[in-house]
Order: sequence, then C-alpha cells, then structure tokens
Amino acid sequence: MPHKIIKFGGSNLQKKTDFSRCAEIIENYNSPCVIVVSAFYQVTDRLRKAALKASDSGQFPGDFLSEFSDECREQVNENVQGDELIEKTNAELQSLLDKLSLLFKGIHAIGELPQTINDTLLSYGERISALILTAVLSSRNINTTLALPEDFGLITDGEFGNASILLRESARRVKGYFAENHNYVVPGFYGISSEGKTTLLGRGGTDYSAAALAYLLDAESLDIWKDVEGFQTGDPRIVKESRTIDYLSYNEAAELSYFGAKILHPRTVEPLQPKNIPVRIFNIDDPSDKPGTVIHTDTGEDLHGPKSITYSRNFSVLKLKGPGIGIKPGVLAQVAGIMDLAGVNISSVFTSQTAICFLLQGSDLKKAKNAIRANAPALIRDVESISAIALVALVGEGITKKEGIAAKAFQAVAEEKINIEIIAAGASTAAVYFVVKESDCDRAVKATHRYFFPEFPRHDTLKNSDLTSVVI
Ligand code: ASP
Ligand code: MG
Repeated sequence: MPHKIIKFGGSNLQKKTDFSRCAEIIENYNSPCVIVVSAFYQVTDRLRKAALKASDSGQFPGDFLSEFSDECREQVNENVQGDELIEKTNAELQSLLDKLSLLFKGIHAIGELPQTINDTLLSYGERISALILTAVLSSRNINTTLALPEDFGLITDGEFGNASILLRESARRVKGYFAENHNYVVPGFYGISSEGKTTLLGRGGTDYSAAALAYLLDAESLDIWKDVEGFQTGDPRIVKESRTIDYLSYNEAAELSYFGAKILHPRTVEPLQPKNIPVRIFNIDDPSDKPGTVIHTDTGEDLHGPKSITYSRNFSVLKLKGPGIGIKPGVLAQVAGIMDLAGVNISSVFTSQTAICFLLQGSDLKKAKNAIRANAPALIRDVESISAIALVALVGEGITKKEGIAAKAFQAVAEEKINIEIIAAGASTAAVYFVVKESDCDRAVKATHRYFFPEFPRHDTLKNSDLTSVVI
C-alpha cells in the first residue's frame, strides 16, 4: 500500500495538547504514513533571534535555552505515556539540547554566525518536534520510526538557507529506506548537501520536504494540516468576505504562493505535478475531516474571473533609462548578469524602447542600485527607483487569455482613485498582476475582490468531487 504523506506545521504545534491532537489524526488514517513535521510555533524565529544575539551582541542566550528546554520537556511529559518511554525520550531530547547549546557556545565564542552553522542550528526546531512526535505515536502503540534526512539521503544542491532538493540524486536511497506498511516521522525544513552539510529549504520549507517525499515514495496524496481551511479568495485579514477555494490547479497554487499567499511554500507543487499527486489542505480545528482546498491537475473549467486575489508588499522598481536600451540586443542580459553577481533576485522585468524596469524585493534595491552604478553599460543614462510598492495578483488558470480581466481590474482600482504603476501578464497563463503604492495595497485588494467576488459566488470551483469526499 503506498504511503500517505502528512505534514503538520508550526501552527499545529502551539498548545500543550497539540501533539496528542496530531496523534489522534494519524490514528484515523487507514494507510501507512510518513509524517513530516515543522518546529513548534515560532521556534525557528526564536532560534534565529537567539543565534544573532549570541553572534552579534555577544550575549549567550542562556535564558532562551532554559525556557526552550522547559517547553520541550513539558511537551514530552504532557503527551508521551509510560514512565520508561518518557525517560528515554527526555534523554534523547537532552542530547539534542546539549548539541544545540554547543552550537550557541561556538557562535558566541567566535562572534559570528556562519551560514553552515546557521542552517544546522535552525534545523533543531524540526529535529526536536520530530523526536517528540515519534515518542507520542509509539506510546499510543502506533509503530513508528524517526527517519532523518541525513539517514535516508534527502539530497540538496547545497545552497545554504534556500536549497533545492535534488530528486534524482535522492531517489537512489529513499526508495530502499522506507519500508512499506510502516509509519515514519521526518523532520522537515532541511536536506543534506552532497558533502553531508545540513542545508535549509527556505522559510516554510517543511511543505517542500513533504512534497519531495511524496514524489520519491509515489505517495497517494500529500495532506497538509494547518490552522486555516486552505487557500482563500482573498486574505481574510483584509477582505472580510473572503471564501475558501475548494479546488486549485497546480499552476494556480504555485502562482498564488509565489505572489504572496502564505498557505504553502512556493515550491511545494513542483515535485507533485509530474506524478499528479494531489495536495489536500485540512484545518486541524475542523472536525469534519474534509479538506478545505484540494490542489490537483487543471480541470479545464470555464473561469469567469480570477479564483483568488493575493498581494505582496515590500517591492521596489529599478528603472534604467537610455535611448534604445530596451531593444538593444544584449543589454538586458548584461544588466541581469550584474544583478546576479550582486546576489539580487529579479522578480520581474519589463522593457520599453527607452527603459528597462526590474521588479525587486525592497531589501535588494540599494544593492542593485550600487551594482548597476558601478558597472553599468554606457548606454544607461539614468537610474531611477520607486520604493515601497506592492504587487497585487489575480490568479486563475487561463485568465490571461480571457478578454477583459485586466481591464476590469483596472476599472475596479481606478474607481478607488488608485494609480497603477505597472501591469503585467503573460509570463504565466494563470496570473495577471499590477503594482501599486504600498499605502494603496489594502484598498486595491479590497476593490478588486469586491469586483470579482460579489456577495454570491460566480463559479463553483469544486470539480474533482471524488478527491474532496474522501475522508482521510
Ligand atoms: N520551521 C520552519 C520555518 O518556520 C520551516 C517550516 O515551518 O516549514 O520556516
Ligand atoms: Mg512554519
């Protein structure tokens, strides 16, 4: 029987009883499971803060360490049953906490936080929650093995902080490691480089670990448990009327994640798409055990508008101006090369006869400007920038081919007297986006949502009913 891959995020591990709640959910699955877990809620941020305190301010984060140790032990004592198992788990936990403490001592001593140590240190959040969950399951007589990425060979390209998983290289060992009909718990968020170094998969990377395992084990499905229903038509913090989306295609989920929806790691669907493995998002607080959103192949449904509107703040635009610059062969490649060398990630490019505009993360603007000023080709006469802008994206399979969607979005925003700085479509058939001042972002999202999602739904997005009706 193929494994089901289940992922629990930090939001599922907040309260004292949460490990037991996760165990109850696992008990309800009637197939062997590989359970991939994140760190407890906010622990990665706390580890990072403590590491910076140790390296930059020269203060040993003893308070954090003792607080965190207490929290971990409390989780064990609260959720693991049987004195012997509690004692054994606490001993294993202590050994992880001792190693963590050594890492803090090291960076405190050298006054620096090298990338390699940063990645190892932050992986302890996941290592600890995986250890505890394995013990919780064992104490409920669910036969489970703790499987570490270094042991089964989840191989990455070695980029610290934001590594990519190499599926082909990982396949060799993974298949032989996981026995059929047995349960495993895996710490998410990291893999191992070919040199054996711990490399993080980017923030929120546990989704990506779980997706890679789903691919490698030919899993039946990837079930992601969260504390929300799934993808929404709009961010409920801004749009009160937002609704859960029942069904998304892989492309739609990828575009929504890329453009700012914080539901999944943007690379989650990448390993799943070639094998058609569905993602089902469940809300841990919903007793129905039915998924909120299912992500699978495009059903070819006829869309009347976008399925969701999302946004991302903290962008900036860098405009390079000069006669003929936009159409002169080679200039774009040259400036993109300069940015690449400076470590700047380009989110988008627009060209015209006299200008090339780059859409960049706000935090990269200064670096990009300096690099261009220092190395710019002679053709560039002027460099301008706009900071504090936000990107609003309309996502839905095929919307770039549907007439009038962009025009309608313009109209909705214009009625609010908001100026659109840039509009773009075409890079993907599933997304149209425009750029507004950051201060206009909320109003633009609200206006577009109101326009495309009036009080009653225009379309029922649910098509693949067999997937959503399967209760775990
Ligand atoms: N704990 C990591 C983070 O907060 C990974 C994850 O949650 O998926 O980014
Ligand atoms: Mg998380």
